[in-house]
Amino acid sequence: MKAKVLIVGGGVMGNAIALSAARFFDPLRQPVVLLERSALASGSSGASGAILRQHYADRMIGAMARDSMRAYSSFESRTGRTLGFQRAGVLTLAGPSRPETIERLTRNVDQQTELGIRTQLLDAEGVRALVPNIEVDDGVIAAWEPQGGYVDPTTTVEQFAALARTYGASTRTGVEILSIDVREGRVVGAETTEGHYDVDTIVIVAGAHCRHLLQKLGVEMPLRVARVEQHFFRMPSDDLEDDSGALGETSSWALVDLDDPLVSEGEADPDEAIKGLPHPVILDLEYGFYTRCEANHGRTRVCPINYDPQEIFDEPQAKSAPRPELAERARELLVKRLPYYADEPMVGEQVSWFPLTPDGRAMIGPVPGVEGAFVAAGFADHGFKLAPSVGDGMAQMIAGEPVSAFDLEYFDPARFLDFDQTEDWSGRLYL
Ligand SMILES: Cc1cc2nc3c(=O)[nH]c(=O)nc-3n(C[C@H](O)[C@H](O)[C@H](O)COP(=O)(O)OP(=O)(O)OC[C@H]3O[C@@H](n4cnc5c(N)ncnc54)[C@H](O)[C@@H]3O)c2cc1C
Repeated sequence: MKAKVLIVGGGVMGNAIALSAARFFDPLRQPVVLLERSALASGSSGASGAILRQHYADRMIGAMARDSMRAYSSFESRTGRTLGFQRAGVLTLAGPSRPETIERLTRNVDQQTELGIRTQLLDAEGVRALVPNIEVDDGVIAAWEPQGGYVDPTTTVEQFAALARTYGASTRTGVEILSIDVREGRVVGAETTEGHYDVDTIVIVAGAHCRHLLQKLGVEMPLRVARVEQHFFRMPSDDLEDDSGALGETSSWALVDLDDPLVSEGEADPDEAIKGLPHPVILDLEYGFYTRCEANHGRTRVCPINYDPQEIFDEPQAKSAPRPELAERARELLVKRLPYYADEPMVGEQVSWFPLTPDGRAMIGPVPGVEGAFVAAGFADHGFKLAPSVGDGMAQMIAGEPVSAFDLEYFDPARFLDFDQTEDWSGRLYL
């Protein structure tokens, strides 16, 4: 078997890259092949909140989130395929109990405006008017992104894969990469559970398992994982309108401005944006958690913003049971902000792993010292919203085209060449 481009990993990154790369290469002479050892979206991607927000302190991430938002929100009108995109709006809160969050949020809003991202700064009264029954003190401020929202993670990965196949890529599940053959400093092949591939270019997008695969290339990179728990509470249905359609269907209000949210005319109507859901996505910098409704599952997801520096590992831990005290903490934070969740039962929980780098920036680019090998890793809790940009940039890189999707140097894995591997580090997340 032969692959011009062999992509290792069938998450959102692998499939976004397959979709973009397939457009550059002739499927018969230069096949693009994606191998996934389990099912598509069986890693972090399927467990993801898939929240699409553009509120970041990091300018590069903000710009990529903006460009990717455009790709996500126009996907249905461009391709006729749905990703379950819902423009629920994203409300980022900062408050007086953590004054540094107020300063940060104000700075971020200025930056978003410079980047052409529509954001409105609200005071406490504005927040109360936007989200019924929310508890905010008078000094609270918020950034309201009416164009933000989320997609359905598994549907998105499957649709990227399906579209990539129409461009001639093949996506093969249940196939594991066992080893990678390197000759004279260049990738030449790969051994897999379905046999040998002659390979020209390999792209490692194996999520939390990238470090392990890079070691197969003889390359040691500082990648670790943070353990995080997400909790799910029953989504209150009181505010759902009778005529809002079946739960889980994209209701018509969510289709406003789908073509190009960034250049659409006029002001988005907040009432329009959150109709049919009890509240928008809330990123709470003051209390340290975020939450989104998952109407198709009848539940609301809650996740802490920060991870515990004591809970950083080299690899995901096979057996890691959820901890009751973290569920209690999640409920406490949620109820403090949205008291009507007090009586809602917990309906699920999951343990997940955020891949980290020491400087909090992902690695996207050539693997140092191994010609023909590329990696995209270390996206922590924000990779889903960036996947279209990463896919475009990686495809441009592989095809030898100028990279317009992001700054190559910013994400270059080679910045870690001199990193002291014995150093203890816990990374950081971008907010
Ligand atoms: C709980 C959680 C919530 C999140 N919420 C958000 C959010 O709201 N918004 C956002 O933007 N981001 C979010 N993220 C981050 C985002 O989901 C990830 O950054 C993104 O999904 C990573 O995609 P990936 O394709 O790189 O990795 P993955 O989805 O992990 O895919 C890697 C794949 O590689 C496969 N693989 C591994 N080894 C091999 C091998 N040897 N051979 C073949 N296949 C292999 C695995 O089976 C896996 O399917 C969240 C992440 C988590 C864990």
